[in-house]
Amino acid sequence: MTRRSVLLALGGASLLAACGNDTTQWHAGGELPGDSHSGEASADPTPSVIPSVAPPTPGHCPAIPGAGTPRRGGPQYYLPCKDTQIALTVDDGPDPQYTPRMLALLAKHDIRATFCMIGRAAAAHPDLVKQVVAAGHHVANHTYTHPLDLTKQSAAQIRAELHRATDAISTASGGHQPTLFRAPGGAWSSAVLSECGTLGMRPLDWSVDPRDWSRPGVQHIVDTILTRTRPGAIILEHDGGGDRDQTLSALTIALPRLLDAGYTFAQP
Ligand SMILES: [Zn+2]
Repeated sequence: MTRRSVLLALGGASLLAACGNDTTQWHAGGELPGDSHSGEASADPTPSVIPSVAPPTPGHCPAIPGAGTPRRGGPQYYLPCKDTQIALTVDDGPDPQYTPRMLALLAKHDIRATFCMIGRAAAAHPDLVKQVVAAGHHVANHTYTHPLDLTKQSAAQIRAELHRATDAISTASGGHQPTLFRAPGGAWSSAVLSECGTLGMRPLDWSVDPRDWSRPGVQHIVDTILTRTRPGAIILEHDGGGDRDQTLSALTIALPRLLDAGYTFAQP
């Protein structure tokens, strides 16, 4: 049983609400018990030690620690293993302060990512949605309002969250239709998966989570990414929901090291 499934079994889905949101009190109670990295740690822009990266081994895809077991119709936790491929996902934007910085960083390294956008943020910043699409990134549906726990909503509410987000992203981007859906906090249920499928989207989860939304320190974010990434990993980061300076600082360090180790970035 993975750490995630243990927590879910304990009813801790809300504790895994790994996405910042400035209007839904996302962070209230959002810390994992005993997780010393949670909370408002002071910024640490210069990690003292940067761990080495396990390089991808051609023809060999090891199991990813902590990744869930994929099942038909269930969420995707990692990419089909193709030797060197990993994916970067960026949630909770677009954000006028951080999305442009994220785009500039990704462009510098010629990396394509998947931006899981909140519908109402997309509606508020259509110019940013267009920039993300124009840069070749994928845009995924991340609900319209980013509810704390989608699984506790009615089928009609779930349907509305997904429909409105797709409409907002399509309108803002000039026609881009999301084909991927990420549930806030990874809160999946049969009703969520059903609506996701009805709208023609695949459910997308993740396998490497440095909990950057909780601002655990640049060192922690860098360490988590570099020590846990294996071929097929889907890395979770954020460009919205609050102060993302640590995220940008950490990715500035981690992304070139992943590339130097031989990883390539693909879209789920
Ligand atoms: Zn989120």
